[in-house]
Amino acid sequence: MAIQTVNPATNKVEKVFEEMMSGAVDKAVEIAAGTFNDWKQTDFKTRAAVLHKVAGILRERKTMLAKMITTEMGKLVAQAEGEIKLSAEIFDYYANNAEGFLADKVLNPVHGQALIRHSPIGVLLGVQPWNFPFYQVARFAAPNIMAGNTILIKHASIVPQCAVAIEDIFKEAGAPAGLYTNLLISGKRATELVCDKRIKGVSLTGSEAAGASIAAEAGKYLKKSVLELGGSDAFIILEDADIDKAVEWAVIGRINNNGECCIASKRFITVESIATEFLEKFKNKLAALVIGNPMDADTQLGPLSSEAAAVQIAEQVQRAVDGGAKILLGGKRIDSEGAYMQPTIITNMLPGNPVYYEEFFGPVAVCFTVKNEQEAIDIANDSPFGLGGSVFTQDIERAKG
Ligand code: NAP
Repeated sequence: MAIQTVNPATNKVEKVFEEMMSGAVDKAVEIAAGTFNDWKQTDFKTRAAVLHKVAGILRERKTMLAKMITTEMGKLVAQAEGEIKLSAEIFDYYANNAEGFLADKVLNPVHGQALIRHSPIGVLLGVQPWNFPFYQVARFAAPNIMAGNTILIKHASIVPQCAVAIEDIFKEAGAPAGLYTNLLISGKRATELVCDKRIKGVSLTGSEAAGASIAAEAGKYLKKSVLELGGSDAFIILEDADIDKAVEWAVIGRINNNGECCIASKRFITVESIATEFLEKFKNKLAALVIGNPMDADTQLGPLSSEAAAVQIAEQVQRAVDGGAKILLGGKRIDSEGAYMQPTIITNMLPGNPVYYEEFFGPVAVCFTVKNEQEAIDIANDSPFGLGGSVFTQDIERAKG
């Protein structure tokens, strides 16, 4: 797989990177393992100093880094700035709180004394997705580095500039060589690395297919693993909801990050007494979105992260239609350069449809109309995914259910 920046607003290749040879990867793992022996001996103050510096550099370079994100994966530039700010907060948060989080916990056994002590385990491999190129790395790297581990990152192949920039920021912040190392390699090679005895754990955030590949390998070698995979969150609107407010949040929930969030609202379930009003207003708001260059402040919906992602979601919509679903809005690619997809509403999605249980990773809302609250709950729960969900009603106790 090519490791390169292809601007999804134009589909033009902007920068090409060389994949690391196996010798270089092996050396990187060796250095990370060696650095672990020193890093695990450091105190929390030393670790926190590096992370606070990382946070400071992120804040200083917010504008430039945000443009880098937008260029590589199409996020609206204001949202990209928000991501850099949030990432800096995450580095500061763990720098400030890790010592407390990891303090010994005294237990009260029936006999003798016992305590829980957290100890670092070694080199950890983090396989990261492109949809939040800085935030996803921050939430993996910050707690693990504070815990005394060293980090290898295999970032998504479409965000190499972001991947390299984070490694450079760590170096500039005074991190010793091997504390944080970016590996420019394919997903397949990341999976092959899991068996390396010097790597003590692996984490992947991404699709189910990639998660299954990493988990299978981790299982084979009894290696610690953490997976964060997809979602198809339900957004339930009950008959007593403030419909305008629900519509406003439905739009945000579906198109934030151009629709490419694991925890986005993806299935909209409305009780029939208000369904017509909700669908009409939701459709009008989605249809009125300003679609365009994600670098422009006025743009409300940018391109998908890549041409491949746009092709994939357009095909998925077509499969839904072939399986009996109906299109209320959009449904097609936008006829312009770049990886753009029309904001789309699908209705008539029934359990026999081949895409019924799939996640739509883009500006595609699947809308269901149900008779009552119980039917809404049944549809919400009829999904292999977890992650999140929302309920719109005026009665908070009813929502808590
Ligand atoms: P993806 O294709 O699975 O990519 C994620 C990462 O896994 C990339 O670094 C990718 O590398 C790597 N990868 C791909 N195939 C692999 C394999 N066989 N073995 C090892 N690594 C592999 O996911 P995506 O399409 O970029 O991201 C979208 C998915 O991630 C959605 O399902 C979304 O819901 C989920 N996600 C979940 C969370 C969460 O916190 N739960 C957060 C964000 C995204 P390459 O780029 O080189 O292929």
